Amino acid sequence: MTLTTPATPAAALAVPEQLEVDFYGFQHQLTPVEQEAVGRVRDFMEREVRPLADDYWDRAECPVHLFKPFAELGSVGAAWEETAQFENSAVFRGWVGMELARVDSSFCTFIGVSSGLAMSSIGLGGSPEQRAQWLPPMARGDLIGAFGLTEPLSGSDTARGLRTTATRHGDTWVLNGAKRWIGNATFADVVVVWAKDTADDQVKGFIVRKGTPGFTATKIERKQSLRIVQNADITLENVEIAESDRLQGINGFKDLANVLRVTRDGVSWQALGTMIGAYEAAVRYTKEREQFGNPIASYQLVQDKLATSLGNITASLAMCVRLAQMQDEGAQRDQHAALAKAFVTTRMRETVALSREVCGGNGITLDTGVARYFADAEAVYTFEGTRDMNQLIVGRSITGHAAFV
Ligand SMILES: Cc1cc2nc3c(=O)[nH]c(=O)nc-3n(C[C@H](O)[C@H](O)[C@H](O)COP(=O)(O)OP(=O)(O)OC[C@H]3O[C@@H](n4cnc5c(N)ncnc54)[C@H](O)[C@@H]3O)c2cc1C
Repeated sequence: MTLTTPATPAAALAVPEQLEVDFYGFQHQLTPVEQEAVGRVRDFMEREVRPLADDYWDRAECPVHLFKPFAELGSVGAAWEETAQFENSAVFRGWVGMELARVDSSFCTFIGVSSGLAMSSIGLGGSPEQRAQWLPPMARGDLIGAFGLTEPLSGSDTARGLRTTATRHGDTWVLNGAKRWIGNATFADVVVVWAKDTADDQVKGFIVRKGTPGFTATKIERKQSLRIVQNADITLENVEIAESDRLQGINGFKDLANVLRVTRDGVSWQALGTMIGAYEAAVRYTKEREQFGNPIASYQLVQDKLATSLGNITASLAMCVRLAQMQDEGAQRDQHAALAKAFVTTRMRETVALSREVCGGNGITLDTGVARYFADAEAVYTFEGTRDMNQLIVGRSITGHAAFV
């Protein structure tokens, strides 16, 4: 990457304190410039997001107004030459996601759907012209993106089961079908929609702009996980898309799989942040809550749960850091990303449950600061490939046998 680095000398950078939960000091894998950028994200999350997260979660509303101020911190689009503000690593980009989820996993999803899923689709699958057209305004926060792959009848089996169709008529494509669970889709300016070409049966990607006739997004109500994220059911009825808005570098599912591999790394970091958020709230609570005349933090059984949680966090952080380094080295394969997603989300599920447990009855209220993470973990466990799907990807790599069907 040919990028300018800030003129400030490294020694003068405002490097943030190492988090207590970063037990083995992985923050030092980041350059001083990256650490300073992480510090800006951490401050923003504490100042702008933490105070409102519980209320927005409770009301199932999204603080869309924070998208632009967050983008102004400069870490959206950090993966792309067109938009990166300084030279940075995949560890840095993952770390930023972890900092978001540590305060609010929904906010991490809201940002990640646009800056990860949608921008990666364009960054990896777009032509140079498409990248130049879309990535800069998305990185500035002027445009919000969404990513439409999952369908009502196709979740885990999107590699073969997509029913949404794209038919070419001259320079225009006509899309028909339905999508489900699409985050940000009710307000997004651009939705990357995946559909099967009726001519060759291959998956293609399309940039669908807000307001395109025939495109409808309806919010999914009564969701009990990641409540801040606005997920939608989408219908596509004879939606006309110009050939110039078809992602020129996507010629089949294997190209889409490249996007999913990168974004799956991001979800591992998100799961890590989610368990850290729950654990930190649990540590606080156990030091304050007294039973039998002592803080419950002084009891061996409580300490065992906290130590188990810190072990989960430390192992997951080590895995995420190495996975990200492999991404930069070009050594990462599908099975590496799948192993991390399955492992880290499983450890997350245990950790948020232990965190909830040590908070007793109060642990199921939003006030203790654990319940939100506990509920949010369920969606993170499922999206970007369920544990089953990721274990099967790893199993295929171990045995040479695909056991999906
Ligand atoms: C909050 C949220 C946000 C999301 N955001 C987006 C988004 O922005 N864009 C998008 O495109 N999608 C999104 N998704 C969809 C998500 O990726 C899917 O939910 C996920 O891939 C699983 O698909 P499914 O829910 O249809 O479950 P299913 O595929 O129906 O699976 C149900 C169960 O069956 C198991 N199963 C399925 N097949 C097999 C098999 N062969 N062997 C063993 N077990 C199997 C699964 O592991 C799972 O336990 C989101 C989902 C959620 C919950």
